[in-house]
Amino acid sequence: MNIFIMGAPGSGKGTFSSRMKDEFNLNHISTGDIFRANIANETELGKQAKAYTEKGLLVPDEITNKMVADYLKNLKDPKNGYLLDGYPRTLDQALAFEQMTKGSDLAVDHVIVMDVPFDVLTKRITGRRTCKKCGAIYNIYTTPPKQEGVCDVDGEPLSQRKDDNEESLKTRLDEYAKNTEPVIAYYEKEGIVHHIDANRDVNEIWPSIVEALKN
Ligand SMILES: [Zn+2]
Repeated sequence: MNIFIMGAPGSGKGTFSSRMKDEFNLNHISTGDIFRANIANETELGKQAKAYTEKGLLVPDEITNKMVADYLKNLKDPKNGYLLDGYPRTLDQALAFEQMTKGSDLAVDHVIVMDVPFDVLTKRITGRRTCKKCGAIYNIYTTPPKQEGVCDVDGEPLSQRKDDNEESLKTRLDEYAKNTEPVIAYYEKEGIVHHIDANRDVNEIWPSIVEALKN
């Protein structure tokens, strides 16, 4: 099974990716991991990518696409397929990927989309508070601590991650909508998209994913 997983920040993509990887024994990789590996191993593509990131520039699609293709061609255990997280991020990347893999064992056959309304994501993310001491996670809207701003476990003050504010999240959600929605529309035409209602209890979401992948 070759799978792309897509979802906005806070959609639960990470949690379900690791579960899918374990359940179906997939090669799970994020584009971030592929970038880091290429840069660490000083591959030709890694060197090119580094030249862009060092200047604070985005790595061009052409380099990203080649890195992903190289990675997929050299999977340690290719027979179970892959689960890619964070790719393709744009329609151009999707089209290039199609060109590179058409008719091969590497062509994608499922696109899982974790659907959560943006207002729910906003509450999930901007409401998140953590305890730096014990790692406990709260949400001021859904799972608040007994006393505001204080950890139930050890009484330490709770903190909010810098990126978890409304403004920063809005930028990320806008970017997701602008870039990723055309990608989803593209795969919808191919009939391989599974929309998962991810605004439910975790225990209800998982069976829908398993069901989607079995069809
Ligand atoms: Zn704590």
